[in-house]
Amino acid sequence: MPLRHSAVLLFVFLASSCWLPFQGAKQSSPAEFVSQIKRVKCDNRDRLESVRSLFSEFGADPGDLEIEDFEYVKNLAVTVPGETDETIVVGAHYDKTTLGCGAIDNWTGIVILANLYKSLKDQRNKKTFRFVAFGDEEKGLVGSREMVRAIPKGRLAKHCAMVNFDSFGFEDLWALQRASDASLINLAKNLAIRNGTALPVKNYSGAVSDSRSFQIKGIPAITLSGLDDNWRSYLHQEKDQLSNINIEKVFENYVFALEYLEEIDSSRCDEFR
Ligand SMILES: [Zn+2]
Repeated sequence: MPLRHSAVLLFVFLASSCWLPFQGAKQSSPAEFVSQIKRVKCDNRDRLESVRSLFSEFGADPGDLEIEDFEYVKNLAVTVPGETDETIVVGAHYDKTTLGCGAIDNWTGIVILANLYKSLKDQRNKKTFRFVAFGDEEKGLVGSREMVRAIPKGRLAKHCAMVNFDSFGFEDLWALQRASDASLINLAKNLAIRNGTALPVKNYSGAVSDSRSFQIKGIPAITLSGLDDNWRSYLHQEKDQLSNINIEKVFENYVFALEYLEEIDSSRCDEFR
């Protein structure tokens, strides 16, 4: 997450379960998460390629992997067609800031994104899922803004919801209120309650993420995160390293996210507007 904070810093930043087993889509395993998270590349120049290989390993053919090549930013997108062309966008940014490895922010989100793709690609989904790894979120939500700009006006209403994943490995999922629609927050909260847990809503000064780009165009959106309240000590800093991630927690966050996407899929497209 980038922060628009006026404070002194260079370290501008942020920003930015125990779940019941999901009965539908095929789940990845915690062991798979460990190896995928450990493959993080700490150089921004290598990261788009790592995202591509993750999706390829999960069954995306080269022809399915689409580079949205805007003038100064690239996103990687994969579509899983559903019974209708009503669309759910699932996203996470792959870029990092100059400090640290970007393992937390946001390779953890990318691993969740790719595993959600893996779990849903062979399902009979009602809606079409578009999985997108965004570039240059840290420079001001650039990749997501360009993607949204490229959606033809007539197609906007077909975009039912956007679910964004940014920074995990500490706590159970929570929603970033200022980048999330109340309707999607409520859906997540109700699901958490049914699973015997809770989904908190948080706000950190200036914290935003890619879901905001979709909200601006009237597409209901939510940002989910798994940071804890000490995020200022590691995010956008040298301490954004693999060794500081609780990978089991990332896996739990993914399990909930999978169930959440299935709920959105079975909802009416206009339900969150
Ligand atoms: Zn981030």
